[in-house]
Amino acid sequence: MKKLLSTSTILLFAIVTFSQSRNCPMSLDLNSMQIQNPARYQRFVYLESFTTNYINNQSGASYRLADPNGIIIIPVVVHVLHRNETEGTGLNISLAQIQSQIDVLNEDFRRLNANRTNTPAAFAGVASDYNFEFRLACQDPNGNTTNGVTRRSTNKTGFTFSTIVNPNNPNERITDETSIGIKITNQGGQDPWPTDRYLNIWVGNFTDGTLGYATWPADFLTNPNVDGVVISTTSMGRTGNVTAPYDGGRTATHEVGHWLNLRHIWGDSTCGDDFVADTPVQQNSNFGCPTFPLVAVNTAQRWFGPRCNVADPSSMFMNYMDYTDDNCMNVFTNGQRLRGRAIFAAGGPRAAFLNNYFMIQQPTSNIICTGVVNLTNPNCLAPTWTIVAGPATINSIGNNQVTIQAAGSGTVILRAIAGNYASEINLNVTPTPIVNSSYVTINDIDACEHWMVLRAVVDPASNNGVTRYYWTENDPTGTSQSIGEGLTYLADIYVPPLVGITRIVYAFGRNDCSPPILLGSKEYEYRDWDTCTSPPPYGCGAFVCLTSFPNPTSNELTISFKGNGENIKENKTKKIKQTGTAQVRIFDENQKSWISLSAKDNEDLKIPVSQLPKGTYYLDVSHSKGDHFRKRILIE
Ligand SMILES: [Zn+2]
Repeated sequence: MKKLLSTSTILLFAIVTFSQSRNCPMSLDLNSMQIQNPARYQRFVYLESFTTNYINNQSGASYRLADPNGIIIIPVVVHVLHRNETEGTGLNISLAQIQSQIDVLNEDFRRLNANRTNTPAAFAGVASDYNFEFRLACQDPNGNTTNGVTRRSTNKTGFTFSTIVNPNNPNERITDETSIGIKITNQGGQDPWPTDRYLNIWVGNFTDGTLGYATWPADFLTNPNVDGVVISTTSMGRTGNVTAPYDGGRTATHEVGHWLNLRHIWGDSTCGDDFVADTPVQQNSNFGCPTFPLVAVNTAQRWFGPRCNVADPSSMFMNYMDYTDDNCMNVFTNGQRLRGRAIFAAGGPRAAFLNNYFMIQQPTSNIICTGVVNLTNPNCLAPTWTIVAGPATINSIGNNQVTIQAAGSGTVILRAIAGNYASEINLNVTPTPIVNSSYVTINDIDACEHWMVLRAVVDPASNNGVTRYYWTENDPTGTSQSIGEGLTYLADIYVPPLVGITRIVYAFGRNDCSPPILLGSKEYEYRDWDTCTSPPPYGCGAFVCLTSFPNPTSNELTISFKGNGENIKENKTKKIKQTGTAQVRIFDENQKSWISLSAKDNEDLKIPVSQLPKGTYYLDVSHSKGDHFRKRILIE
């Protein structure tokens, strides 16, 4: 039952010290706090106000959640402190035991616990699915893969819960984390993973009977380095090294309840206030497992927490925030759920936790052409990536990262969604610039050909951004179909002969992120074979020459190669080293290919052409070392 915060309550609570009794040091006395530590008191008061506002409006849900009432997934890291034991033995509890604790949390916070059927019908109406899910983290703070468990051998023979006088407030006692040591590596414990991103659960051997303790959301901003939950080894999970009656994993359910801002159900004083509207006011804590309805104290059974108001059917001793045995607890209420969700809302103390949970990391610099963007995703949810707007595409998707490719200049909105989570950032992207300059020259390198051979020569030192060259004919915009392209700085283009027509070829450069840039152009005109005055050899490169070229011909076309600069026709007795192969094609003026074969370049090649229709053809010789010639031939 919720009361006004200003209602004066009398603190009668003290830690119960019965052996085999549940205990938890997470009692709060706000009246004393107001006197002893006014600043801390104000934080608690503010959070109550914030929570009340959230519950009344429920509009402050985290903007990170696609559905404010949808699942909140909590990445968990479990720190196991042991005594140099093998994993799975003694204090170095097994992964199965740890996972069993995660399972219990998920059952209890989703109201999937098997004993939910034991919730009395009178309370069934307020029983709640928290809609929280807990997962062992799969991504550590450095982005590396993890199973969500750290293990450390400690020199401490055991841990002891202790308090200390607050040095700043002599009247206040506070948890002495340094003395306890389990959260501090150099005190025999383990430093936490970032507490704004992970629920840290420390597991160790408490020799003073402590079952567990937690930290309050209202203390998170001032003490983030100790935020989390501590569980004694034998109360962790429900399998392995566990001890009855706290062997059902409910100690962690209870302590995580505190971490989610839940108070003890009796309000830590006689008929106190737990700030939850739908839990009955309860006289005190209960132990063991009372019989429903609990309407009066039963000292012999240590059922000290009956109802306070006769209008209530019973106290809610089966609530996870009482002190009853693990197998007796079975319910959270809707009011408790709302308190837990409030702290994750925008402006709430754990909003940063949620915001850091599934979030695209803003790159430190603008993306030029392509760039990798990383995702903080401690539970490795499967994200769906989208470019919402802007000149870019998703080039490839990796493990918690995506490669963006600019398609222009501007601001890009990148979004990732996984389940109920969404993250969005703005990126500035620019293509790799291509500057059109005179670094491209285009030469007619084979002036006596009926196929014009134009060569774009690019100074590599001047190249800024071009990764591909291509050519168009009579199209200075570069949008028509390319008539040739190359990946290198040196690209040849073979221009087909068109009688009597002057044409222009245009050379373009581009890259994956840039539209084509015109680099240069060359005007050419068809010249007839007979007007060519250059003598044979008609083509000769570094590796092969055409040395015999009967033209016109009717039956057989004989081609001789000169390998390695030596003419085999003139040196038949000399051993000629083969230097490569030549691809030979004959095609007509319509580009239809008639003959295609390959030849070693130390042999004469005799090509039968008698079956070809009479007419004009083109002979194309492409040598494996790079030489390339085209000749017009007449077959009569
Ligand atoms: Zn407690």
